[in-house]
Amino acid sequence: MIKILHHGAVNGVTGSCHELRLLQATKGSDPSGSDPTLLPASNTHPGILIDCGLFQGQEEARGSSAADLAIDFPIDHIRALVVTHVHIDHVGRIPYLLAAGFDGPIICSEPSAIMLPEILEDALKIGFTRNRALINRVLDLIRARIVPLPYGRWHSVFEDEVGSLKVRLQRAGHILGSAYVECDAVSGPAAERIVFSGDLGAPHSPLLPEPKPPERADRLVIESTYGDKNHEDRETRRYRLKAVLEHALEDGGTVLIPAFSIGRTQELLYEIEGLIAEFGDSEILRASKGSDPLGSDPTLLPAANSKAGALGVSPQGDRPRSSPGSSPRSESLTWSNLEIVVDSPLAAEFTKIYRDLKPFWDEEARALVAAGRHPLSFEQLTVINSHEDHLNAVEYLAKSHRPCVVIAGSGMCAGGRVVNYLKAMLGDARNDVLFVGYQAAGTPGRDILNYGPRGGWVELDGERYDIRAQVHTVGGYSAHAGQEDLLRFVEGIPQSPSEIRIVHGDEGAKRALQAKLRKLVPVADVVIPD
Ligand SMILES: [Zn+2]
Repeated sequence: MIKILHHGAVNGVTGSCHELRLLQATKGSDPSGSDPTLLPASNTHPGILIDCGLFQGQEEARGSSAADLAIDFPIDHIRALVVTHVHIDHVGRIPYLLAAGFDGPIICSEPSAIMLPEILEDALKIGFTRNRALINRVLDLIRARIVPLPYGRWHSVFEDEVGSLKVRLQRAGHILGSAYVECDAVSGPAAERIVFSGDLGAPHSPLLPEPKPPERADRLVIESTYGDKNHEDRETRRYRLKAVLEHALEDGGTVLIPAFSIGRTQELLYEIEGLIAEFGDSEILRASKGSDPLGSDPTLLPAANSKAGALGVSPQGDRPRSSPGSSPRSESLTWSNLEIVVDSPLAAEFTKIYRDLKPFWDEEARALVAAGRHPLSFEQLTVINSHEDHLNAVEYLAKSHRPCVVIAGSGMCAGGRVVNYLKAMLGDARNDVLFVGYQAAGTPGRDILNYGPRGGWVELDGERYDIRAQVHTVGGYSAHAGQEDLLRFVEGIPQSPSEIRIVHGDEGAKRALQAKLRKLVPVADVVIPD
């Protein structure tokens, strides 16, 4: 017998964690032919885990005790962990899994193998310990366990008297290295192909090839983050992004884009580079509208050569300042001289990894590189690394109203550097907040989205902040597939699955997808596991 289990959703802090378990075939009245309690669990019902996540990252976990996060299900029989992608809600509990005694391999795609230690290092520093030696020990352990598996290649996890289990990773198009997992499980007379979608990307998302439906899935476990919504198409949302940025920059001030460090930030950079290339000299802001659209010191945030990757800037550095009475510049703000700031050491690190892993980009992105473009390292891009530079940038931008686009984490405003920007900027109508991703219920991001347009407030670090800044959304930039994309993924499976399990999404999204899937695949039992 082959069983699918879902671990997680405990105390609202755990993310994705699924299990595929093989149970020994029953023989007569005695379920195992011998007393199963005498045999180690790994012999009677071996299994694998797919992902071991922490919900919404370390931010929410900060308030919870280590006991809340400890692994609360048996793992003695777990032979391997397969990682679909390195978002923290899929990998954040790996340190706890190791602490609980898990000693199997961690199987993931080749790009994920490079990114996983990086993201976990960050998670450990924030949520676990500041002890460098301890962090290094955990990271060494994780590195030693990682088994990078090329896309499309079968890998045998185990094969013994109870049965056998092979896994294969396919591109999921969600973030670099993301995969859906095909599992070929054999247990006694039962033999099944079970597919775990992980998070699926939207088709035509920048940088990554779109996911192709599996060739077979007897049972399917599918995400439903956007199970109730459809995305705008690529061109529409690209021009919407342009329009929103132009509108937002018209009155000066900062456009703040809360974005996840991995995936979204790089997609945005890619799109913005494309807009700069296409609209280079088009004016965003006419010089005549204000005396000095670029602010009094256009060199304040120097267009850094971001190829250096981890460049720290000193916005309040030693450059000469124009005095208030100096003559206004006649230069207008164009796409070519628009300043883009990425304020996040993690995003900087991952942007560098994205740049290094060009073979995994889609054809369009690779063609741009071949044509001499630098989609993730253009000259208008400034990367802020150190905490001091971050604080200086917040203070300066809040005071100067210099037109600028700032991308900072976290994506749902539940922590990270974006919080300091929000505190400093929400109260000023010249500033704008642009959401490009999913905002989960209960996060400050959701509150800003809900209450901002109605002149409401949001609570950040226990204090109320009135929202006078304008709030916008460009929905298409989710790294998640929309409802139609999810349906197409299922429809593309040549023979319909007998069971579809909907996981990973708000209740409403899950139910909406369930209703659609029941119509689309009437033969399938479409369930939402508890
Ligand atoms: Zn994800």
